[in-house]
Amino acid sequence: MYLSDYHLHTRCSSDSQATLTQQAEAALAAGLREICVTDHWNLLDQAGNRLPTVYSWEASLKQWKKLRSRWPGALELRLGVEVGNGVLDPAAVDASLELPELDFVIGSLHSQSAAAGGRGIFTVAHECTTKEDGAAILDDYMDMLEELVQTRGWDVLGHVIYPLRYIPEEYGLDLRPWWDRLAEVFRTVIAQGKGIELNTTCGTTVSQWRDVLALYRDLGGEVLTLGSDAHHSRFIAAAFPQALELLQSLGFRWLCVYRSRTPLFYKADS
Ligand SMILES: [Zn+2]
Ligand SMILES: [Zn+2]
Repeated sequence: MYLSDYHLHTRCSSDSQATLTQQAEAALAAGLREICVTDHWNLLDQAGNRLPTVYSWEASLKQWKKLRSRWPGALELRLGVEVGNGVLDPAAVDASLELPELDFVIGSLHSQSAAAGGRGIFTVAHECTTKEDGAAILDDYMDMLEELVQTRGWDVLGHVIYPLRYIPEEYGLDLRPWWDRLAEVFRTVIAQGKGIELNTTCGTTVSQWRDVLALYRDLGGEVLTLGSDAHHSRFIAAAFPQALELLQSLGFRWLCVYRSRTPLFYKADS
């Protein structure tokens, strides 16, 4: 069975200590045939400060080139990046993504909009004291998602349910109040031949994805990657059996890997 993890981090991300060797060896141990390293390039830090709008590829390229041919026939190793808040400067993002070795780009939103202060969603969600605070975060997030899909610098939308990871569960919030807007976002994704990912968040969020994936599927969405978002090797391919079960129950038969920013489909259940 061919299986890939298309969202993982290494020490080229400021919040990971993992080496690419550790991540690759964990992938082999988990029976994966392909991984794509997607280190962070965020345009804002958690406090809302602007970060460089030119991405320095040197460290990512160096570790990838060193290892890409180490496991021939056993593990395909591809180079990607996770862009955080690319909506802030789409032209700068596009310029930095012009790298011949680059196969795949995840477009993520880790921060609030500039109008809302630009602080990290992780930070503001942990400061939530009311359900209304949580809803305001989601409302702002949907505004940015609508902007992001109009830009070019991404292949799949990263962890679409991201704020729900951190908003206190007791508020019982989900994306239902924004369903029509989310559907429109997905229609735009599909019309462009782009996709979304099922991000297992180290195995913690599979059940939260059901309705969102069902909506995407109902609208005709087929381009889908599967990723663990592992910042440590113990989370590579986390909860993939449950994720595959969910995908099959929703009628998804294919998953994608990428070559030169173009999706290739492989059968998810064989
Ligand atoms: Zn992310
Ligand atoms: Zn990530």
